[in-house]
Amino acid sequence: MVCGHALTIQRVLTPRYLRAYDGLVSSQGFRHRHLVGISALAPEEITQILDLGDHYLELDAQPVKKLAELRGRTIINLFFESSTRTRTSFEIAAKRLGADAVNITGSASSTAKGETLIDTVRNVEAMRPDAIVVRHAFGGAAAMIAPHVGGAIINAGDGQHEHPTQALLDAATIRRHKGLKTAGSPRGGSIAGLEVAIVGDLAHSRVARSNILCLSKLGANVRACAPWTLVPRGLEDIGGEVTRAHTRITPHLDEALEGADVVMMLRVQNERTAGEAPRFPNAREFSRMYGLSVRTLERAKPDAIVMHPGPINRGVELAPEVADGARSVILEQVSWGVAIRMAVLRAWIMKSFEVP
Ligand code: ASP
Repeated sequence: MVCGHALTIQRVLTPRYLRAYDGLVSSQGFRHRHLVGISALAPEEITQILDLGDHYLELDAQPVKKLAELRGRTIINLFFESSTRTRTSFEIAAKRLGADAVNITGSASSTAKGETLIDTVRNVEAMRPDAIVVRHAFGGAAAMIAPHVGGAIINAGDGQHEHPTQALLDAATIRRHKGLKTAGSPRGGSIAGLEVAIVGDLAHSRVARSNILCLSKLGANVRACAPWTLVPRGLEDIGGEVTRAHTRITPHLDEALEGADVVMMLRVQNERTAGEAPRFPNAREFSRMYGLSVRTLERAKPDAIVMHPGPINRGVELAPEVADGARSVILEQVSWGVAIRMAVLRAWIMKSFEVP
């Protein structure tokens, strides 16, 4: 399975597909046609997206949250995997920018009747959307369909590959709580040097991959923690030198948590392991060794924040008292989700990272 995943990424991200999302430089220096993964973003571009997200988060305090920046634009959410948070968040983001948003779910799409993914996308493309936000169980789906559209493909999670907007909203949340503001540091502060523990099912998590790439590019240090049966081979190499320099893998929870500034817990992705040999004896055992409780959290810094991309399996990776405790920023992540997705939609449709 682990090898299978490595193969999938290699097979899909051939130069032909890479060309599809690296081939455009606008007058503002915007060089991306699509957002397939954090892997294609430069650190300065990530910081610009976070700055734009800061700008849109301010809308949360306004009674009227609607802008007209994308008025007349059409965004299609094409979701072949279940999702509540991400789909709703993209829909609200599109609507807050004044765009028309249309949702198509997998079960309601023609792929359920046997149409290929490419044919579905070509039909959706014939309606000329400005952006298609896509989620699919196949790692590589976003890169695969990118050459078939004229607008932007925004990856909302493709199998075990990447979930770029999740990593961006996570970085925004971390920056808000832990960003160090010094002369010359980025607008919202720098997160370089922070110690971030990412704990849980690393093998099946696109969130872990996108976060390892994003946090490493921003200079934070990642302690990735899971039993060896849930650690994909070469995880620390996914971004080459930058992730090798910033990522350490450990099977010991205590070691991962010791002095951490941020603790990010991941769900065990049972839906991706059906039919496989179990990776750990049972949920209770996993929880005892890798779950975050009030007691295990004591190892982290006293002001450490606790994160989770959701959905949470309460009592498995996260004790309810921690999930709902004072250090949890889990619901704040959801609020950042809308602001960051507004930033991404605006940037990729208007081809500019400028704060309007
Ligand atoms: N919502 C995240 C994802 O789509 C995390 C999860 O499902 O556990 O990958």
